[in-house]
Amino acid sequence: MANTETQSILVVGSGMSGLTAAIEAAEAGYDTCIVERNPYLGGRVNQLHHYFPKLCPPYCGLEINFRRIKQNPKIRFFTMAEVEKISGEEGDFEVTIRLNPRYVDEKCTCCGKCAEACTMEIENAFNYGMDKVKAAYLPHDMAFPMRYVLDPALVKSDEAQKIKDSCPYDAIDLDMAPRTVELKVGSIVWATGWKPYDANKLDMYGFGQYPDVITNVMMERLASWTGPTKGKIIRPSDGEAPETIAFVQCAGSRDENHLPFCSGICCLASMKQATYVREQYPDAKIYIFFIDIRATDRLEDFYNRVKEDENIQFFKGKVAKITQDENGKDLVLRVEDTTTEELREISADLVVLATGMQPNTSDTPLPIEVPYDDYGFVASQNARPGIYAAGCVRTPTFVSEVVQDGTAAALKAIQSVVRR
Ligand SMILES: Cc1cc2nc3c(=O)[nH]c(=O)nc-3n(C[C@H](O)[C@H](O)[C@H](O)COP(=O)(O)OP(=O)(O)OC[C@H]3O[C@@H](n4cnc5c(N)ncnc54)[C@H](O)[C@@H]3O)c2cc1C
Ligand code: SF4
Ligand code: SF4
Repeated sequence: MANTETQSILVVGSGMSGLTAAIEAAEAGYDTCIVERNPYLGGRVNQLHHYFPKLCPPYCGLEINFRRIKQNPKIRFFTMAEVEKISGEEGDFEVTIRLNPRYVDEKCTCCGKCAEACTMEIENAFNYGMDKVKAAYLPHDMAFPMRYVLDPALVKSDEAQKIKDSCPYDAIDLDMAPRTVELKVGSIVWATGWKPYDANKLDMYGFGQYPDVITNVMMERLASWTGPTKGKIIRPSDGEAPETIAFVQCAGSRDENHLPFCSGICCLASMKQATYVREQYPDAKIYIFFIDIRATDRLEDFYNRVKEDENIQFFKGKVAKITQDENGKDLVLRVEDTTTEELREISADLVVLATGMQPNTSDTPLPIEVPYDDYGFVASQNARPGIYAAGCVRTPTFVSEVVQDGTAAALKAIQSVVRR
C-alpha cells in the first residue's frame, strides 16, 4: 500500500533510541520525520568519551546511523525544534512543531570565519559549562548536521552585522525568526531521553563550591579529545594531575530526597571512568565508594576486570559529606564504612559524583496526555494508542537496550499506521 501522510511516523528526540526508531521505520519503507531540540542529532552519547564494555568511541555507531539517514530519502529531520501541540488520534494526528532560528543556513561550509570575527563568548553547554565557546559556534567537532549556530544574544548585539559580513558564503541570516510547521502523521515515537540529576541540589557534596568536585557527565567531557582540556584529566582548580580520585556512587540516587530509584548505569560508568584515569595515570589511587554495585549480565565481566586493578579500591560505604581541608587543595570525604560501621575520613584531590538519570519528561512532558510513573518517566511503551515511548524517557538504561527499545517502538509505530 502506498504511504500517505497519515502513514508517516514522527519521532521526537534523536538520541540512540529515537535515531534507531526513525531509521528502522524508514528502512521498512515508511516516511519518517525526526524532531530534535538540539542543533545536532545523536543525543547524550555524543558527549561520552567511550562506551562500556568495549570502550570504543560513540562516533563509530553514530556515524553509521548518520550515513543511513543521508542515504534514505524517507527520513527528514528538524533540529532546534520542539513539538508544541498534538491533537487527533491514532492514524490521524496533527502536530505543530516549533522551529527555533539557527541564523545560519545550509550554505554554511564550516569555514569558521564567523567565529574568528566574534568576540562574544558563551558557556559551552556541550562541555557542561566547563569552558566557553564563541557565540558563533559549531555545537561540537563531530556535529551532524555540520553547521554553525549563532547564539540569540549575539544576533541582538552590536556585533551582529560584523559577524554576518564576515561570512564569505552569505550563510548568515539575522532575520531568521521562530516559525511553526504543521504535520499530519499516523503514529509517534517519543524518545526525548534523560538529563543528569542536578548536582547543585546535593549540598553535602559541595558541588559548585569546590571546583574539584565534578559529576560523571563532566568526567566524560574531561576525558574526551573534543573536551575542554583536549582529553587531559586534570583538576579543574589548578590544572594539576590528580593523584587520588574518588568516585561517589549513588550521588543523589536511591535517596528519597532526590532520585529514589537506581539509574542502573552509573556504577559501570564510574568503572569505565576509572579506566580513563588509569590510562593517563598508571600510579593514581582510585576509590569507588558504593552501597551496592550494579553490573548485570555480561557487564559483570567488565566489573571483574576493573576489580583486578589493585590500585582501584572498591569501598562499601556511603559518603556522607565532602569538605575541603585547610590547605585548600585536598577534599575530605566522610564515609560511613558499612562493613565495620566506622566513620572514616579519606582524602582525594578529585571527586566524581556518580549522579543518576532523570527523564526529560519530568520537566517537559508530552503535549498530550499520557501516563507517567512517580519519577516522571513515561509509564509504558504503549503511552496511548498511536504513541510509543522509547529509550531513557521510559527507563534509565544502556545504549544497547535503548537501541532494542527504539526498534520495538518502530515496529509498534508501523503496526499502528498499518492498522488504520
Ligand atoms: C555518565 C554516564 C556514562 C554513560 N556511559 C555509557 C556507556 O559507556 N555505555 C552505554 O551503553 N551507556 C552509557 N550511558 C547511558 C547512555 O547515555 C544512554 O543509554 C543513552 O543516552 C540513551 O539514549 P536515549 O536516546 O534514550 O536518550 P538521549 O541520549 O537523552 O537522547 C534524547 C534526545 O532527545 C532530545 N530531546 C529532549 N527533549 C526534547 C524535546 N522536548 N523535543 C525534541 N527533542 C528533545 C535530546 O536533545 C536528545 O537529543 C551513560 C550515561 C551516563 C550518565
Ligand atoms: S556561517 Fe559562514 S562564516 Fe560561519 S562557518 Fe558557516 S560559512 Fe563559515
Ligand atoms: S547504578 Fe550504581 S551508582 Fe547508579 S544508582 Fe544504581 S547502585 Fe547507585
